[in-house]
This record gives sequence, structure tokens and C-alpha cells, in this order.
Amino acid sequence: ISGHLENYSELMYSPMDIEGRAYRVKPMNCPGHIMVYKTKLRSYRELPLRYAEIGTVYRFEKGGVLHGLLRVRGFSIDDAHIFVAPEDVEAEIGRVFRFAIDFLKSFGFNDFALYLATKPREKFTGVEENWEMAQSSLKKALDVSGLKYEIDEGGGAFYGPKIDIKVKDCLNRLWQCSTIQFDFNLPERFEVTYVAADGKRKRPYMIHRALMGSVERFIGVL
Ligand code: ZN
Repeated sequence: ISGHLENYSELMYSPMDIEGRAYRVKPMNCPGHIMVYKTKLRSYRELPLRYAEIGTVYRFEKGGVLHGLLRVRGFSIDDAHIFVAPEDVEAEIGRVFRFAIDFLKSFGFNDFALYLATKPREKFTGVEENWEMAQSSLKKALDVSGLKYEIDEGGGAFYGPKIDIKVKDCLNRLWQCSTIQFDFNLPERFEVTYVAADGKRKRPYMIHRALMGSVERFIGVL
């Protein structure tokens, strides 16, 4: 799913035997939110539709890199997925970005490193004009904030551009916390739609957003 996790297939096919029943660990929250969205027909009047949860997920980290709260195998993401009509993307991105910055500041983080990661040169999904629209709304949110940022040219995931917000700890180390990530891939693959004002079925944009990222790591950094 969307390349969030390289060893996803390994997790999928290695169930644990818990008293004769197969259990699998959950690597990410996104598909769950998509399933909630898809429980009924959605109208443009409901958008932007925002789902959030403190979702516990698992990743395989090698024993040698485990490190206190900073790197663990089971952790909780303050994870949200926003389904938004194309015409509302810019306003929504602005809101999400201000939310992230206000949130981090309220914990006393004032030193940020901001990155706008753009379209990879070769492998990417989605059409060119959507990428441009998404990148320009991310850039606009950054410009309006007046904060300094760097453009990570070609550094976006294959499924969409993103803003990464890193904060500095007391040892001047940078830690990735908030992410605002566009996704052109999952709405397509899960056939996510809404009924537009003209009665036609349209595809919403999907934005993944986390403020703390891993709650455990955030506490470690704090
Ligand atoms: Zn997600």
C-alpha cells in the first residue's frame, strides 16, 4: 500500500498464531479511514471530511537501531486523513499547516526545519497538472507563514508531494514530526468518490496529516 512501508508484504504474509487464530499487526491507519469513508455515498456537502485517531501501528526495526522512545517497533500516530474536493484544497492545506505550526509551538518548539518535497523525476502516479496544483497549494501555505523552508526537489513520494516539519531537540538534532502529505494513489486504488454539485461522481483528494507523528518519539524529543 502506497510504499509507506517497504516490508509491508512481509507483515501481511506472516500472521501470528494466537490460540489458533491468525493475527496480523497493522502497519498503517490510512486504509481504515478509507473504509470508514466508503461506508456510504458521500456528497460534496460533507467535504472536507476529516478523520483522526491515535492509531497504533507496528514497523519492523532492527534490534540495533531501537532507541528508547525515539525508535520503537509499536507506536501510535496522531493520524488524520482528509478527503477534500479539488476546489477546496488550497484553503484546507493552509488550515492544516497553521494547525501543525501552532501545535508544535504550544509544546515550546520554535525552531523548525521546513521542507517541500516535490515530484520525483521518474516514478510517480497521478497527472502533471494535479501535481502542480498540489505543490502550489503547499508552497502557498509555506509562503503565507513567512517561515523559511527548503525545496527538496524530486524528494516527494511517488504518490504525492508533501511538507515535512522537523523540530530541533536540546542537542540540536532534527526530528521529523509533522507531515502534510498529498496522495493521488490511494483514492484511485480504493475507488474513493463523492457526488459533486452537478450530480456527477468525482474523486476527492486525500491528505495524510500527522502533527506529532509518532506520539512516543514526540515525547522522547520533547
Ligand atoms: Zn495515511
